[in-house]
Amino acid sequence: MTKSLNLSLLLLALCMASAQALAAESSAPWSADIDQVRQAAAMIPGPRPLRVNVIKFAESRRPKNFAVKGLPAEPSVQARTAYQIVYADGTVMVDTGMDLATHQFFGRGVEEPYFPDQAARVAHALRSARAILVTHEHGDHIAGLMRSESFNELAPKAVLTHLQLQTLQNEPQIPELRPSPEMAARLRLIDYSDTMAFAPGMALIKAPGHTPGSQMIYVALQSGKELLLAGDVAWHMDGVRLMQGRALDQGAAGADGCRAQLAQRPLPQRKEPVDRHQP
Ligand SMILES: [Zn+2]
Repeated sequence: MTKSLNLSLLLLALCMASAQALAAESSAPWSADIDQVRQAAAMIPGPRPLRVNVIKFAESRRPKNFAVKGLPAEPSVQARTAYQIVYADGTVMVDTGMDLATHQFFGRGVEEPYFPDQAARVAHALRSARAILVTHEHGDHIAGLMRSESFNELAPKAVLTHLQLQTLQNEPQIPELRPSPEMAARLRLIDYSDTMAFAPGMALIKAPGHTPGSQMIYVALQSGKELLLAGDVAWHMDGVRLMQGRALDQGAAGADGCRAQLAQRPLPQRKEPVDRHQP
């Protein structure tokens, strides 16, 4: 972002579909002001989160040049992940995992690792969470909600943006993600322009590009550590280091947004970004 920023940028999971989205709602390049983000995260009073847990429930194994344009076609693993923001009195989930059938869709006939025990832990974490957010509306981030047998239980605490819901309704990545009108009515919907306070130490950052409803989740812990859950702005840490998007982004409508988001990140510190407890 524009000012010195000591964020650990977390790379999230691989999505298979090409960036299909709007570059931005306006012609202006995407930008974010870290001071505004920090201010938003400080708006809601209360103790900040204690830690962020991460879990990998599946992998996608595709050549590096698929995830990072211009790199060699060497073997590469892209993790499919979900995050649990832990407060003293409850949790917020960011992204929802996915079921095996959706995972197999992404494999397109190639068998890729899927960890059912970890997926079950994500499902359990969703049920015990106070609130559920998604970085964006692709299947590997939202199928754990939209295709869950517990959808009716989860939906009232799932907070989606209007743009995320619109994509699911009008142009879902796979038809199985499209909610019925009854399902859509159960979800909590929000809209915001640039940045929005969500909880103590948490702010949402609008980041269209990879999808219309993409957003980043900023978290400031009690310890002072800051994290940015960046969704699929990049699929591999090398994409962040090199500020280079996916091969699929070439010519895609969302590429401009993703490039701007990568360009405004700080050089990542290669220290451990999160406490690797599992939800
Ligand atoms: Zn995605």
